Amino acid sequence: MKFPVYKTKNQKITKSFNLNTPIGRKEYFETKAGKEIEDIKNYIDQGHTFLAFFLAKKSAGKGTFSNLFSEVIGENRIAQIGIGHIIKNLHKDIESNPSARTEIVEYLNKHYRGFVSPEKALDSVLDRSTEKITIPSELIITLIKREIAKHPNKGLLIDGFPRTHDQVSYSLFFREIMHVDSDADFFILLDVCESIIDERIKYRVECPICKAPRNTKLYPTQFIEYDKEKSKFVLLCDNPTCEGYGKQVLQPKEGDELGIEAIRARLETDQELIEKAYLLHGVPKVMISNNIPLSEKDKFDDYEITPEYTYEYDEKTSKITTIESPWIIKDDDGIDSFSLQAPAGVLIMIKQIHTILFGKE
Ligand SMILES: [Zn+2]
Repeated sequence: MKFPVYKTKNQKITKSFNLNTPIGRKEYFETKAGKEIEDIKNYIDQGHTFLAFFLAKKSAGKGTFSNLFSEVIGENRIAQIGIGHIIKNLHKDIESNPSARTEIVEYLNKHYRGFVSPEKALDSVLDRSTEKITIPSELIITLIKREIAKHPNKGLLIDGFPRTHDQVSYSLFFREIMHVDSDADFFILLDVCESIIDERIKYRVECPICKAPRNTKLYPTQFIEYDKEKSKFVLLCDNPTCEGYGKQVLQPKEGDELGIEAIRARLETDQELIEKAYLLHGVPKVMISNNIPLSEKDKFDDYEITPEYTYEYDEKTSKITTIESPWIIKDDDGIDSFSLQAPAGVLIMIKQIHTILFGKE
């Protein structure tokens, strides 16, 4: 499976943009894909919809991509349907409100078809015993259908389905099964090499108070401190709405030091699903590669490439210097590569979705 390298550099645009701020991103997207964005907005405003199945490996950044895409096209035009969220909310609803279960069973009696009874299927979702119980695909589909009904006239991004091989076949006929009246359906395949995921996990930290996620190597806060006892650098929260602003040390999660090894089995399943979707005929595919071989660097602007940060501590002055340098990683074939900033990946996603909806210019 080979992901194409999509050129985002435009010789005519010499201005550079700060992709870390909402204003900088807005200018970036308007400058590089203003027409495509307007077209997609109008498409939805005129009553058209689309249905996209977003596939990527765990921790590849699907959430970030979906959020940025919604930010650009408009929260009122895009609905993110996450299977994980649906199930979590189902738990919450049923625990906090006894009538919620009756309501959902009534819905299932009307809309669900499958080999297992609606009651039993529902139990498979709610069971929290350590024993892993698989939730029937037919139930997942019914729950997605129920969720989709809450978001009429929107572009739909489905995250977490298909999750198994049999669900890939379901996704082919999803619109027919669901009676979803969308004008287009397609897959979004995001490729991220293992070394990127590994370092994202190993260096990620979060604020214990506001949960702001950061990364000591790739996404620091503006406050860095040197912990002399442990002789290591730590980040302090810089979220102005957090009570830990400027003082709370961001913490790693237990097990993250193992990096990718803790989720190896899951990554392999995810990869198989992406490959299976890739082989499908008749369904358009948006293909985004997050890692780019160094030899293709001239297709991108420097600010579109993820840097890494290292720090130096001066004993005499107690001053800390942050050093920004190119982040070079090996891709899954061992080729020296760099990682695109998420907004650049989203730009590629927008251009390809535009081509699917409107054809090649
Ligand atoms: Zn905080």
